Amino acid sequence: MTGKNATEMLEANRAGITRAARILQSGGLVAVPTETVYGLAARADDPVAVAGIYAAKGRPGFNPLIVHVDAVEQAEALAEFSERARRIAQEVWPGPVTLVLPRREGASLAKGVYAGLPTIALRMPAHPVMRALIRQSGCVLAAPSANPSNAVSPTTAAHVAASLGGRIDAILDGGACEAGLESTILAVRDNGTLEVLRPGPFDLGRLTEFGMVGANPTAEIEAPGQMRSHYSPGKPVRLAAAKPEADEFMIGFGGIAGEYNLSPGGDLSEAAANLYAALHRGAASTQPRIAVAPIPETSVGAAINDRLRRASAS
Ligand code: AMP
Ligand code: MG
Repeated sequence: MTGKNATEMLEANRAGITRAARILQSGGLVAVPTETVYGLAARADDPVAVAGIYAAKGRPGFNPLIVHVDAVEQAEALAEFSERARRIAQEVWPGPVTLVLPRREGASLAKGVYAGLPTIALRMPAHPVMRALIRQSGCVLAAPSANPSNAVSPTTAAHVAASLGGRIDAILDGGACEAGLESTILAVRDNGTLEVLRPGPFDLGRLTEFGMVGANPTAEIEAPGQMRSHYSPGKPVRLAAAKPEADEFMIGFGGIAGEYNLSPGGDLSEAAANLYAALHRGAASTQPRIAVAPIPETSVGAAINDRLRRASAS
């Protein structure tokens, strides 16, 4: 916060984007819509603004942030791109993919953004509002998910207001997020490998020519989004449930009914888009526990199950 108590609610129209860009330029914190989840944005070159992100989220200082860019040239000013990294970026951007690359010496970034690592996490989002905001503010934006650390990520402006209202300068309301899961994080290694640090909405089958090596065994240290317990709704979560116990809020899928069905038609992309809204609903319900129907491990189902495993770990 920059000396205000109330969080401004801004519509994602021209006036709202202009106001949000001003707040960001002057070092404020704005929750912003992206195609993955809502992000809590601050200019990435301002140490005080970046410290504000950590303070508002209660985020541990060892957990680095993703920097959002509007153009490849902005990304190249912050990270070292090999020819191969350039081709990978071309394939995945704009979109829900974060690339971890060697950080460029002297890049104009607050230290808090990369938390002492020699690498930097970069993404060019596809969401037109987020892109317009980066362009108008003239700043690359550090933006982790706009939720208190370890809690369920927000996919609507109302989710953000409920948990961070009064602690940030503004929320730019761009409606519900399309993908609904955090970006796929890929580390592009010098030795020619490509490691998945966090599964997400992106179809990794599109990258087989780039030599994928699957999940990184050290990912816990390198990407704290991979911590065993994360995305917690604050109550026990039981997975692969065929039906609820009496004291459970049931999240259904396909033919398995629930108080909230992720996708009655069994569509995994729809289920991903609805997952966090369902967990927020379960968290706010009167039932002390949550149960979730089985989700197939195919395509984006693998990323849904990754988040559910972490939500259920205590
Ligand atoms: P969030 O946007 O809240 O999902 O958090 C950003 C995620 O990106 C966290 O899991 C970070 O650990 C991860 N991340 C950011 N920078 C790096 C990096 N240099 N290397 C590996 N992971 C990173
Ligand atoms: Mg997060």
